[in-house]
Amino acid sequence: MKKIIAANWKMYGNNNFVQEYFEYLTKNLKNNNKKNIIIFPSYLHLDKANFFKKKSNLFKLGAQSCHCNNKTAQTSSISAKMLMEIGCDYTLVGHSEWRNNNHEKNISHILRNVLTNNMTPIYCIGENLSDKESNNTESVLEVQLQNIIDNIDYYSGKIIIAYEPVWAIGSGLTPEINVISFIHSYIKTKISQKLPSLQEKDIMVLYGGSVNIKNTKEILNTNNVDGVLIGGASIDVKEFTNICNQEL
Ligand code: PEP
Repeated sequence: MKKIIAANWKMYGNNNFVQEYFEYLTKNLKNNNKKNIIIFPSYLHLDKANFFKKKSNLFKLGAQSCHCNNKTAQTSSISAKMLMEIGCDYTLVGHSEWRNNNHEKNISHILRNVLTNNMTPIYCIGENLSDKESNNTESVLEVQLQNIIDNIDYYSGKIIIAYEPVWAIGSGLTPEINVISFIHSYIKTKISQKLPSLQEKDIMVLYGGSVNIKNTKEILNTNNVDGVLIGGASIDVKEFTNICNQEL
């Protein structure tokens, strides 16, 4: 199974950055069919990114979030239909920075809208520091996973989850490698218990939180890790290209 390497640019970038980033990436990225590279730029830069995507065929595109329906009277929102048109195959759903701003616990309806519009959601879950310190990680994840389980009938392809401990995002800290493996296994088991016909290979769990050139190889080679979601280190195109080109 191809490992996923995803770049979350968050609110970073301008036109020059995007141009230079993709010129470098498409020139230097090895055409390695063992990995599936997905870039998540801001909405504003999707169009330019799509130009390079179509020209190079080396990576896929995704959006960082999406509205829960396609009705047009939604000032300031972006629909799944619009994202499809601009070349997105993926959407992040429930990134912790998004959750922080939107205060929505039940985001089942966003997942459903992404799925029914034939895009693949990458559903982000993770405990915050106080959940971790009070040993509540598994129960927090179980509640967040309920949004996937509610929508299980809408999935036809793979289920992709990004386990991103909130305390690891942008902090330079990561969980112990055996903890990452254990939590990924816990997530896969929880979902497959709800749908026994689902095979483990149909459930992909990416790890996100302070991934960089130094720790990617170890994380990607860990049991139950199907890929990485990279924020800060994906902004540096040389570092990101090196991460993608690393032999596993
Ligand atoms: C993220 O925001 O998805 C993320 C993983 O950020 P960072 O790599 O900077 O920790």
